[in-house]
Amino acid sequence: MRKKTGIAILGSTGSIGKSSLDVITSMNEHGENYEVTFLVTNKNVDLLYQQVRKYNPLGVVIIDESRANQFRSYLNGEKLKVYSGEEGLMEVMAGGEFDVLISGLVGFAGLRPTLKALEAGKTVALANKETMVVAGEIVNETARRHNAKVLPVDSEHSAILQCFSGEGKESVAKLILTASGGPFLNHTRKQLENVTVEEALNHPNWRMGNKITIDSATLMNKGLEVIEAHYLFDLPADRIEIVVHPQSIIHSMVEFVDGSIKAQLGMPDMKIPIQYALTYPQRVRSKYQRVDFGKISQLTFMKPDTDKFTLVKSAYEALRAGGTATAILNAANEAAVDLFLRGKIRFLQIAEYVKGALDSIESKSAPAIEEIFEADRAARQFVYAETERV
Ligand code: MG
Repeated sequence: MRKKTGIAILGSTGSIGKSSLDVITSMNEHGENYEVTFLVTNKNVDLLYQQVRKYNPLGVVIIDESRANQFRSYLNGEKLKVYSGEEGLMEVMAGGEFDVLISGLVGFAGLRPTLKALEAGKTVALANKETMVVAGEIVNETARRHNAKVLPVDSEHSAILQCFSGEGKESVAKLILTASGGPFLNHTRKQLENVTVEEALNHPNWRMGNKITIDSATLMNKGLEVIEAHYLFDLPADRIEIVVHPQSIIHSMVEFVDGSIKAQLGMPDMKIPIQYALTYPQRVRSKYQRVDFGKISQLTFMKPDTDKFTLVKSAYEALRAGGTATAILNAANEAAVDLFLRGKIRFLQIAEYVKGALDSIESKSAPAIEEIFEADRAARQFVYAETERV
């Protein structure tokens, strides 16, 4: 029998984590040999316990200490290693009892454990785009030094990776990231002033976690993805474009120097890019829904309206500025989205606060990891302080 591929999942109870477990089940049903070795969650211990019973991992990590105790009380003689807190997480990442880490925690929290897994020489299937956004250079350098691989799970970047297959880097003219446009694509700026949290969470095509769904509504998600693409594929900002494509069937495209364009198409289902990251460069059968062109009938495209969705501009600015600017951008956005979700600020204020943070906090070039953490803290502080002022 072929050797099993051990998978650790950061964020197993979140949207990416649940889809990843479904993918592993499906691939094993198609004769593959994957096993779940570690599951990591922040605090959803009830779902974690169900996952443990179904997938029988070697161990789990519960980041929230008090929930870890709750989880221990569920156990009934199971042979399971239970770790807790940031420290427990780092121990598991360094321990290396897995071949691939699916990095699906939300936000900045994914950075440290992802770096740890790369230092252990592991392949990282990266769903946590914030890791690349805040510390792209350090991530790439760490991967190089430890001969580790970073493979994208984000559907756009998976599409680009697929388009790159069989091509030399010198043949690439530009990347074209597609964006659904989110739920407010046709809203006027005036209408955007009063949109509610519920409306913003109602994404037309994708079912995802709350933070990324808000990012899709502001188009910040695409801004972050431009930065992610820069670090994954080593192309400058002016060779990475965004096109709005409301049907979300084309997941991204690459234009080559001869004028040819390759695109990757599929239904909007994260299981497909998750599976590709796990089987790359091979493909494995699946029963996931197929594109039915008779039903779709049209694929449409338009330019993103960056006067309406100004966070796209802020993201390009941060990328061009480099250094800690992208960490400031990301942290300010995480804080502002948190405030919006809690009903503390209005939708358009998310972009205002992010711009405010970028304009007020000085960016440092070629930062060390501590300086990135510092920039992250400063930007969060800036945003939370802003709301206390009003
Ligand atoms: Mg995406």
